[in-house]
Amino acid sequence: MLLFTPGPTPVPQNVRDAMSAETMHHRTPEFEAVFEKTREHLFELFATDEVVMIASSGTGAMEATVTNLCKNTLLNVNSGKFGERFGKIAKAHGLKNVEIKNEWDTPVSVADVVAAVEANSDIDAIAVQISESAGGLRHPVEELAEAVKKVNPDIMIIADGITAVGVERIDVTNIDALIAGSQKALMLPPGLAIIGLSNAAIEKIGEGKGYYFNLASEIKKQRQNTTAYTAATTLIIGLLEVLETIKKEGGFGVLYCNTARRAKATKTALEAIGLHSYPKVPAKSMTTIDDKDAAKIRSALKEEYGVNVAGGQDHLKGKIFRINQMGLIAPYESIWVVNAIELILHRLGRLEYAGTAAKVFNEVYFKTALEKKEI
Ligand SMILES: *Cc1c(COP(=O)(O)O)cnc(C)c1O
Repeated sequence: MLLFTPGPTPVPQNVRDAMSAETMHHRTPEFEAVFEKTREHLFELFATDEVVMIASSGTGAMEATVTNLCKNTLLNVNSGKFGERFGKIAKAHGLKNVEIKNEWDTPVSVADVVAAVEANSDIDAIAVQISESAGGLRHPVEELAEAVKKVNPDIMIIADGITAVGVERIDVTNIDALIAGSQKALMLPPGLAIIGLSNAAIEKIGEGKGYYFNLASEIKKQRQNTTAYTAATTLIIGLLEVLETIKKEGGFGVLYCNTARRAKATKTALEAIGLHSYPKVPAKSMTTIDDKDAAKIRSALKEEYGVNVAGGQDHLKGKIFRINQMGLIAPYESIWVVNAIELILHRLGRLEYAGTAAKVFNEVYFKTALEKKEI
């Protein structure tokens, strides 16, 4: 079965092998050496002033950043399930909360965020997804962050990059917390979250908040290449292997470029066979198609072609399907997927099969390589 869901993503064989070694004790020089090397790679990936790894799924990092960086009112951007979650976290912790809500295909307007911040001086943190996985859209986070900092540089910008870190280069100039999760673009099993932090964020964190998710305790320990509580040793060993594999395959720049080419080739191929891309601004992490036959296409992909893609949630259940673009994906796998979709559409009587999707994918993906064109 080809796992083509936008999280979890397939774990490469060499990474699974690296994680199958005997369990290492976390308070040892051997593990501290692994931790230190992993941290060095993470500093390059995140480009932030500090970086901490915590043993939790991505939501734990969302909660940690909200509780440690918001003292008064959180503005959250809700264009989908994950954006909505930030508001729920704020409420669960008794913080005041303002929400900007849009349909799941619509990125937030920077002007709306600026207006909200100008109207409410209690807002001291903004939480937003870079790539909102519910509908596969890209929010203009960098522009939003820059505009907000012009109004009030003390407002903390929390960017959920769980489906963006490792997908594309993110400009962190005005971002205070950047979140990643192991099971998405980092090609690992679930259970590890990573947070990049700005110096301003570290200052605001001060003594930290809470107990397990107290970021001050973690920063202090992780600067010494250890963790406040038992580290997720196996996942960190896997993470080091993932980061070294990316390096061996040309580095982060090559990964971003290949991801962008694959995302563009997939979208163009599916549009060429009459399908429609759902989000107004698609993220590079996944290709999201809305279609009346979405549920049928998804189950035929699984049953007839051995491809597992994700569906939609809530009001988009049965209305969309999402094809992963995160990680080191061989293009022949993507070609198999778009070709299978064309065959399914043929069987549904919607077109005459002509091998169009695979041809268009190849043209877009490989021509850019021949011409060394930037996407
Ligand atoms: C998957 C995901 C999360 C939640 O992560 P969990 O690991 O399921 O807790 C948060 N934000 C985005 C954008 C995601 O895609």
